[in-house]
Amino acid sequence: MFLTDDHLHTRFSFDGKADPEDVCRQAIGRGLSEICITDHMDIYSDQPYTYQLDCENWKKTMDDLKEKYRGKLLVHVGIELGQPQINPKQARIFMEKYSMDFIIGSIHNIENDLDIYYCDYKNMDIRKFYSHYIDWLMELAKNYDFDVMGHITYPSRYILEQTGTAPDMTEFYDRFRQLFKCVIEKGRGIELNLSGLARGGGKPMPEEDLLKLYRECGGEIITVGSDAHVASQVGTISKAGQEILAGAGFRYITWFEERKAYFERI
Ligand SMILES: [Zn+2]
Ligand SMILES: [Zn+2]
Repeated sequence: MFLTDDHLHTRFSFDGKADPEDVCRQAIGRGLSEICITDHMDIYSDQPYTYQLDCENWKKTMDDLKEKYRGKLLVHVGIELGQPQINPKQARIFMEKYSMDFIIGSIHNIENDLDIYYCDYKNMDIRKFYSHYIDWLMELAKNYDFDVMGHITYPSRYILEQTGTAPDMTEFYDRFRQLFKCVIEKGRGIELNLSGLARGGGKPMPEEDLLKLYRECGGEIITVGSDAHVASQVGTISKAGQEILAGAGFRYITWFEERKAYFERI
């Protein structure tokens, strides 16, 4: 089984603790064939792209790791690009300056750089908010460069944590269908983000019904990621991820090198 973990954070992420070397060692220990380290590059409305990431140090460390583990583990250098539409110029400068294997396009923050983690879901119209979040995903899908879209049901995690109830996604199926069509037309994909499982107690993002919908829309490009921020979680969900995908009708998982998709049979 070709096991992958293509969503990983290290100490180069503002919220990461993992030593990059430990991430590689852990991946080898768990029998993984391939990993991609995807530290955060969140884009802010009034900050340069260098605001959170020590870019030169990060890139050199990652390129060195790739060389060091050649023949033992496929190590790829990626980034989780957050909301490029909030400041397209800064996002473009970063993307042009650094060559990478893989880009996850995510939405963490919305208007006024509001991190959706901080929203008060108990006192809001959740349907309206979710629809708005999907607008942000649509804008990302239509106009920005990435390989897979990250954790497309991200608000569900916080809504469940705060209110104790998972939002009903069936009412957004038409919107997600549109989103998937746009992503697929552009030759891109989505990820199966298993941060909930890696940390314990959470749900896959997206859950199986939306994975099936993506598959029905013709979606084939899909990566698996733990979204680990500590080394001990690296690769813990790689097998489970492939089982979830097989259950949703996928026959292949995807990984990327130099922005090109490679497929491995599940
Ligand atoms: Zn994220
Ligand atoms: Zn992440």
